[in-house]
Amino acid sequence: MIKLNTNYANLKDSYLFYNIAQKTKAYLEAHPDKRLYRMGIGDVSLPLCDAVIKALNEGVSDQAKKESFHGYMPECGAPFLREAIRDYYFQKGIELDADEVFVSSGASDELGDILDLFDKTSTALVIEPAYPAYVDANIIAGRNIVHLSSGKENGFLPLPDDSIDADLIYICSPNNPTGAVFSKDKLQKWVDYANSKGAVILFDAAYEAFIEEDLPHSIFELEGAKNCAIEICSLSKTAGFTGTRLGYTIIPFDLKRGGISLHDMWVRNRTTKTNGVSYIIQKGAAAVFTEEGQKQIHENIAIYKNNAKVLMQALDKLKIWYCGGKNAPYIWMKCPNGMGSWEFFDYLLNEIQVVGTPGEGFGACGEGYFRFSTFGSPEDTKEAAKRLCELLG
Ligand SMILES: *Cc1c(COP(=O)(O)O)cnc(C)c1O
Repeated sequence: MIKLNTNYANLKDSYLFYNIAQKTKAYLEAHPDKRLYRMGIGDVSLPLCDAVIKALNEGVSDQAKKESFHGYMPECGAPFLREAIRDYYFQKGIELDADEVFVSSGASDELGDILDLFDKTSTALVIEPAYPAYVDANIIAGRNIVHLSSGKENGFLPLPDDSIDADLIYICSPNNPTGAVFSKDKLQKWVDYANSKGAVILFDAAYEAFIEEDLPHSIFELEGAKNCAIEICSLSKTAGFTGTRLGYTIIPFDLKRGGISLHDMWVRNRTTKTNGVSYIIQKGAAAVFTEEGQKQIHENIAIYKNNAKVLMQALDKLKIWYCGGKNAPYIWMKCPNGMGSWEFFDYLLNEIQVVGTPGEGFGACGEGYFRFSTFGSPEDTKEAAKRLCELLG
């Protein structure tokens, strides 16, 4: 009989969002007259911008005519989109070759698939609290995982130390769930650490477009990063592509281990395992990188950022410790009066009908913290902030 991958048995049930759904459902059944203010969502709520819709429609029309029809797309991405992304990096002061850009169907897909490059005896380091997929993808692959806890004392931005032995290092900055962003100096320490150990950094830049202060948008802003890092990014949060699906991955030509190019390995992987991303979607994605597209996506991001401001003002008034919000669409707060994450969740649900995400769901060191998302509607966010102030003030 075929032997199955027994690592699946080592996965913990992803009970976080299930549990939230169960609790909110039970509450609404018991209180049919109440409505909820959902500040827990990790999904965008605003529609795609006009420039993208126009380009998607053009893509559809192209597929209707013999002269402009596209069949299989190049596995690693359409040249027009790889070039648009190269130019976007160039504007940020980073020089890439268009062939160093790989188009993907999203960051989550890529974060799992990229593990094909590494031996399963390699060790993965996950800075916690973390996006649960980092841990789970490595459990499925049977890889040893080192959990590095972070906390209030280091602003949820821990630094490497030589006692840590890791081959594969996950860094998400701006961070989900904490909203914390590594400064250039701190990120440089991780780059230097990776180069000294021969490790590889997987840098998740899904929230780079939310940065407004002078902080690194890309790991390739740092000295030596092209020798040790892969950057994984996505249009999901930047441009509302969560349901449209498009991401991109940067693997520099200079990234080599044991004389072998990871870039060449990834080309080989993609040409085997995918037939590329839909022409229509790549057409829509390219519009994000036009002047008009950038202007429009930043108008949407400004709406989410204003939600963040409303929540931050409430927490400031309440003198509650938090991080994030300024350069990320998440606010990570300390639960008041020593409450636990789930205890605070129940308290907000029952008292003011506000739903957030318990920090414990992102790793043990998230216990005692709570995440608010700023992707909800401005009206609901204002009401939630008002209710928080009344309850905790
Ligand atoms: C939302 C999110 C992504 C984006 O994933 P997609 O698969 O591209 O939608 C990536 N990383 C983190 C940390 C996220 O929160």
